[in-house]
Amino acid sequence: MELLTEDIIPEYAREVKAEAREFADEYIAPNAEECFRKGEYPWEILEAGQDAGLVAQDIPEELGGRGLDIVEMLAIAEEFYKADAGIALTLQLASFGAEMIYEYGSEEQKEEYLKPVAAGDQITGLAVSEPDTGSDLAGMTTTAEKDGDEYVINGEKYWIGNGVEADWVTVFVRTSEENDRYSNHSMIIVPTDADGYEAEHIPEKMGMRASKQAHITFKDVRVPEENLVGYENGGFLMLAEFFNHGRIVVGGHGLGMAAAAIEEAWEFVHEREAFGRNVNEFQAVQHGLADMRLEFEAARALNYRAAKKVRDGENAGLWAAMAKTKSTETATMCAEQGMQFHGGRSIFTDRRIARVYRDVRIPVIYEGANEVQRNLIYRQS
Ligand SMILES: Cc1cc2nc3c(=O)[nH]c(=O)nc-3n(C[C@H](O)[C@H](O)[C@H](O)COP(=O)(O)OP(=O)(O)OC[C@H]3O[C@@H](n4cnc5c(N)ncnc54)[C@H](O)[C@@H]3O)c2cc1C
Repeated sequence: MELLTEDIIPEYAREVKAEAREFADEYIAPNAEECFRKGEYPWEILEAGQDAGLVAQDIPEELGGRGLDIVEMLAIAEEFYKADAGIALTLQLASFGAEMIYEYGSEEQKEEYLKPVAAGDQITGLAVSEPDTGSDLAGMTTTAEKDGDEYVINGEKYWIGNGVEADWVTVFVRTSEENDRYSNHSMIIVPTDADGYEAEHIPEKMGMRASKQAHITFKDVRVPEENLVGYENGGFLMLAEFFNHGRIVVGGHGLGMAAAAIEEAWEFVHEREAFGRNVNEFQAVQHGLADMRLEFEAARALNYRAAKKVRDGENAGLWAAMAKTKSTETATMCAEQGMQFHGGRSIFTDRRIARVYRDVRIPVIYEGANEVQRNLIYRQS
């Protein structure tokens, strides 16, 4: 059954979707189980993705990228996440934080930091979450204080993709203590070889094990004032804008994983026998599969509609939150049902359905827990 059909995708995005599928078939799917088991950073697959022009390619063409838009990024995401979410996250996070620089950064920053990422010579990360909070963006406490023509950064960040592996990270820092909690933060570029920057991997995860996150500590890390992105105290607004794009793509994580769960469950029940017939012949099972398909198609229609809204700047925050919530929860629903249809075999750790089941727990949390998305949906409706 073909689930990630191209009919819903605008014509201009179909070519890159086909490239992503070819890459996923060749490099991601065949390595998924081993990468999950070992929990190691898939450097070789990342390099292959960079060579194939499928990593960091939302970066504009004049900076060496392909200037892919949000619809094209969604089309890539669903193909990659269907093949394996852990590897896909590593490929995607290689340019996490770059968008803010091509949107708001100076010409010098784009030249120095973005060109090497677009060329596949460097990777990056976006450091927002902290040990004490991930949801309360305005409550983040890591500080950057001005000292002459430098900023001095102190604090901790947690869950940061590529915090150990990246060449530089874009960091969300507190630069003011004003009453308006949405105007107290800034974005700043920090090279990971700066004195006082220390990062270690967080403990082993149960899902997306081929991606790596870090606990970073900043102790009197000094960066030149030129590393400020955009303007001082504009960080919250930049981040909110960035999440409108990010959440569309995270919806794509959900769609890919939902497709994987449906595919896997479908195949299993058509081969497994019980009571002298194939399991798919029970009407209860057929209805379960029908519900999975229904939810998947509804989520995908919403997600692509939302992608076009965000691309065209129409009420982006609302549509991005709806797409992220619906698609990631469709993935949890499909994985749960897929596990049930696998019977006892669902819990073998090397089974694809068991891997998907663990992976789907993550996108309902990252880029804003779905409760926070519901707050946005309510407020912006
Ligand atoms: C695999 C992985 C990769 C990640 N990568 C990155 C990264 O690269 N960079 C980065 O900065 N962060 C990253 N994160 C962090 C992620 O964004 C946070 O985990 C997320 O925002 C939730 O924050 P928290 O875990 O601190 O949960 P908390 O903020 O402590 O919230 C815990 C729970 O409380 C509830 N809750 C919280 N606030 C509300 C509310 N307002 N209304 C209702 N309920 C609420 C929700 O159920 C929520 O799940 C990553 C996380 C994971 C798991």
